[in-house]
Amino acid sequence: PQIKGPRIIRQLPPQLVNQIAAGEVIERPASVVKELLENSIDAGATRVDLTIDGGGVERIRISDDGCGMTAEQLPLAVTSHATSKLPDDDSLFHVGTLGFRGEALASIASVSQMTIRSRAEGEPSGSQIDIRGGIIESPGPCGCPVGTTIEVRNLFFNTPVRRKFLKTPQTERGHIVEAFTRLALANPKVHFSLRNGDKEMFDLLPTVRWADRIESFFGTEISESLIPIDSEDSQVKITGYACDPSVSRGNNRMQYLFLNGRHIRDRALQHALGESYRGMLMVGRHPVCFLRMTMPPEMIDVNVHPAKLEVRFTDSGRVYSRLLQTLRQRFLSTDMTHRVGSPE
Ligand code: ADP
Ligand code: MG
Repeated sequence: PQIKGPRIIRQLPPQLVNQIAAGEVIERPASVVKELLENSIDAGATRVDLTIDGGGVERIRISDDGCGMTAEQLPLAVTSHATSKLPDDDSLFHVGTLGFRGEALASIASVSQMTIRSRAEGEPSGSQIDIRGGIIESPGPCGCPVGTTIEVRNLFFNTPVRRKFLKTPQTERGHIVEAFTRLALANPKVHFSLRNGDKEMFDLLPTVRWADRIESFFGTEISESLIPIDSEDSQVKITGYACDPSVSRGNNRMQYLFLNGRHIRDRALQHALGESYRGMLMVGRHPVCFLRMTMPPEMIDVNVHPAKLEVRFTDSGRVYSRLLQTLRQRFLSTDMTHRVGSPE
């Protein structure tokens, strides 16, 4: 519009700021699930139960037995840029938790109707708050066990455009299952369950062997094809499994990479994986693998992407060649001749 004269600059109200921020991180129900699961893990939970209805749009409910929150901390949890995970300003450069931006709950609360019930260890009772579109409605005490239960209803009820972009409940549920899979694979010692309506989809007991958790998601076809990987140098540690070429896939979605406990997607590392299987897979086929990498936090910047799916390495060439070499050496010392997925 053609407006003459100086424009009015307006400082946006916090609810609007949070809705805008939510646009970056909270794209769909699965983003909510990812953030809530990460918070439960950061809270030291040993058990996390998730229930979804209507593809997560109607309702997402998560319950954990983590450290919980006290009554006076609870409103801070849904305040933007408020976090318990950066105790001082230097901690940003060696983040040891999955979260640290202090934005997820504030963002989710601004685009949904949320109820949080929480009780911290040593507290005589729990407390509850209800938030509707970012506004805290009714704080008060409640009876609940130590830990936290968060319910998110009617996602995007006040941002109709965003709501329109959502796909069918089945598609949204598929994304939720993927987010759940990533977190449950990254934390095999935690008991996770997932219910869709009144139907139980997963009940995953804590595991000692990672292969058992992998099997509970992908079955014996995958678990019987796992080739253990275990390699460590002064900076990069790589453990987990590469799969037999016979269980290759038509896309690279079954390449699960975890860096310091966080699921990541990284083009360069996916390329390194493809290269390490060179000659063992037909064109257009992609390897399946489950790899956990550990590196000193100062070698990684997780601050690049709001959803933290992408990371930046201070020395990406080194990480690339370490992964490639590790797998190549492993394959050299393994009899792969019977494993080559050759056409019959
Ligand atoms: P971040 O995880 O980046 O700190 P969030 O908005 O996700 O930001 O959460 C804000 C704060 O709320 C966390 O720092 C944590 O102190 C608290 N919190 C959130 N979820 C839980 C939970 N399940 N158990 C205990 N505390 C939680
Ligand atoms: Mg968080």
